[in-house]
Amino acid sequence: MKILIDNGHGVDTPGKCSPDKSLREYKWSREIARLIVASLKTRGYDAELVVPEDNDISLKERCRRANAVCAKLGTKNVIFVSIHSNAAGGDGKWKSAGGWCVYTSPGKTRADELATSLWNTANTVLEPYKERFSVLKQSGAYDSRQVPMRADWSDGDPDYEARFAVLTGTSCPAVLTESLFQDNKADVDFLLSEDGKRLITQLHVDGIINYIKNQKE
Ligand SMILES: [Zn+2]
Repeated sequence: MKILIDNGHGVDTPGKCSPDKSLREYKWSREIARLIVASLKTRGYDAELVVPEDNDISLKERCRRANAVCAKLGTKNVIFVSIHSNAAGGDGKWKSAGGWCVYTSPGKTRADELATSLWNTANTVLEPYKERFSVLKQSGAYDSRQVPMRADWSDGDPDYEARFAVLTGTSCPAVLTESLFQDNKADVDFLLSEDGKRLITQLHVDGIINYIKNQKE
């Protein structure tokens, strides 16, 4: 199995940062993507970055790169995971949304299993974040509607569905994770902490490995 790890945006993408500019999504997602690839390789898996460059690479080119690997190895032997962090607004102000979620393209596809594996693993690995979330919610860091593990159960599984280009344009199972919110101060503190980076990396690595192991059974 070839594991393709995509990192959102680029150094030249406008916006896509925390209101205080401490977190820039392109930089954070590259750091996490590199940690995920390194960790998977250490554990004997074949992982590779889709975008090793720092600048933004078009969504079309990201799909082209993934599909070139699929054409060579077969779509059954490739998975694609895109690393992002969420935002509730684009106006440069702090917001009160928070939490982790995963997206697939609409409908029942093989990506649903990968997304469910990542969601279930995140639900366990992010236990320290969930505890912190419920404490900080009481002091107003998150509004009353917010939950640490965001899910859309309307079709029986926890992933959200969207026609994101990297999800609809890739021929292998592809998911996109939104790890917490870059415009929530409490989430940004977690995302930039060593513990936060370690846990976000771990949930992706373990979620991917759990998926691959289930495929073999
Ligand atoms: Zn993004």
